[in-house]
Amino acid sequence: MIESGRVAVVTGGGRGIGRAIAVRLAQEGANIAISYRSNDEAAEETAALVSETGVESGLFKGDVAESGDVSALFAGVQEKFGRVDILVNNAGTTRDNLMMRMKEEEFDEVLRTNLKGTYLCTRAVLRSMVRARWGRIVNISSVVGLVGNAGQANYAASKAGIIGFTKSVAREVAQRGITVNAVAPGYVETELTGGLPEAVKDQIKAQVPTGRFGEPEEVAEVVAFLAGEGAGYITGQTLAVDGGMTMQ
Ligand code: NAP
Repeated sequence: MIESGRVAVVTGGGRGIGRAIAVRLAQEGANIAISYRSNDEAAEETAALVSETGVESGLFKGDVAESGDVSALFAGVQEKFGRVDILVNNAGTTRDNLMMRMKEEEFDEVLRTNLKGTYLCTRAVLRSMVRARWGRIVNISSVVGLVGNAGQANYAASKAGIIGFTKSVAREVAQRGITVNAVAPGYVETELTGGLPEAVKDQIKAQVPTGRFGEPEEVAEVVAFLAGEGAGYITGQTLAVDGGMTMQ
């Protein structure tokens, strides 16, 4: 459960998993700031879905990997809502290629968005969370960060990096009432994975004990739990939401 009046920032909240997270947190009663990079139409649709639940929503456009954009995002959130209690670092991207062919720009872009974006947004909220002695940060990693994936060395490095980042920040702020956790989804059908050939999708499904892809809402459910009042004694963890793909 999320205490009413809390404010959540969901990066990459415009579509896909981020949209499901925004709507789920709104259903819990949190006001929602939706950050996105360029797709205005998708973000407006998310804002409409959030508003239907009766909470406040705000749209913030910018690149999570640009420190100027991130400063503007959190200044805007502060102006509209006056606080940030929950941060979900969900914005992410892929530029797949086999390692021998991977260009420096493909490596840099994925690391910038996925890992540096998580760092910049976390840095932007920590001070006010420390002051409030309450905060929830949920970072969206991936099963690929746990087990690797051919053709995704850049993405795997960024998502494994998020796990180390999560544990380190969790240790720094554990005594301040702030939890920092990661969620590692398996394959979920969104625009990020929609382009995969059917044969590859079948190969992936064969590795999933449940025999199917996940739904964005199934990831959002776990994020809502970690963002809630009841998850205060869970920090530094990575929860796989992957149909059993990476059982440990
Ligand atoms: P998606 O459908 O491609 O949506 C990505 C969202 O992130 C969009 O809202 C996009 O904004 C935003 N975004 C991308 N780069 C950004 C940037 N530089 N600055 C600000 N916003 C940015 O992706 P998804 O599948 O929902 O994935 C969401 C997260 O889950 C990602 O971190 C991804 O790595 C992770 N994940 C996904 C899967 C999966 O199977 N789908 C599995 C494991 C982990 P615009 O709409 O404006 O473009």
